[in-house]
Amino acid sequence: MSLMNIENLDVYYGRINALKRISLKINKGDIVSLIGANGAGKTTLLNTITGVVEAAEGNITYNGSDIFNERSDTILRKGVSHIPEGRNIFSELTVEENLMAGAFSLKDKIKIRELLERSYTLFPILADRRKQEGATLSGGEQQMLAIARGLMSDPDLLLLDEPSLGLAPIIIEGIFDLIMDIKKLGKTIFLVEQNASMALDIADYGYVLETGNIVLEDTADRLKNNDEVRKAYLGVA
Ligand code: ATP
Repeated sequence: MSLMNIENLDVYYGRINALKRISLKINKGDIVSLIGANGAGKTTLLNTITGVVEAAEGNITYNGSDIFNERSDTILRKGVSHIPEGRNIFSELTVEENLMAGAFSLKDKIKIRELLERSYTLFPILADRRKQEGATLSGGEQQMLAIARGLMSDPDLLLLDEPSLGLAPIIIEGIFDLIMDIKKLGKTIFLVEQNASMALDIADYGYVLETGNIVLEDTADRLKNNDEVRKAYLGVA
């Protein structure tokens, strides 16, 4: 069943047509990866889904309700959490304060406590560092904190913007293992990535975005074996 349905989404920055009538579906419980080069429009898509960027035209439904050009906080309360590119953690707040900031949309203190404990179970390194300031964490730990903070609103759909950015391959592997663990919690994940190989390895379904157009879509397994994808994104001659 599709949890999010995007139809004919058209987005402009002034006269630049950043997304050109794109359509895609995210099925419940899946990891869906959108791959594309620098500047293809990946971040624009996530920002449009979450109401940060206004679309000119199109339609977006989530769980059957219309969220097209809806306010960001409303979309978050409906269960969509966005983990932006570049992590954006609060560097002067502790790990625990960062996590609590992710729960701002919730009121139930017991629920918040449970979510905090879940974060520490999923990310034991964050439990060890709970009193440390964000700035003292390594790049990989900061990415984990950004993801853990995004989970603190207890979303059903997680939008992840380039979690591999700037991290060493071994650290990226750890982060992608965690994304699979999050899927096992029953979450749906929409992952946008330049690292096509890793993103398709863990995905159920994939899309390829090129200069604002979706040029290919298929199961992740088939995309990995697609000649164009292999040449352009997987570095296979
Ligand atoms: P990256 O991997 O660098 O984040 P991306 O695939 O996420 O790339 P976007 O950041 O969505 O791509 O950018 C898509 C296009 O829109 C690019 O041509 C970019 O220069 C342009 N663009 C993005 N943000 C703005 C903005 N605020 N104003 C004008 N143009 C923008």
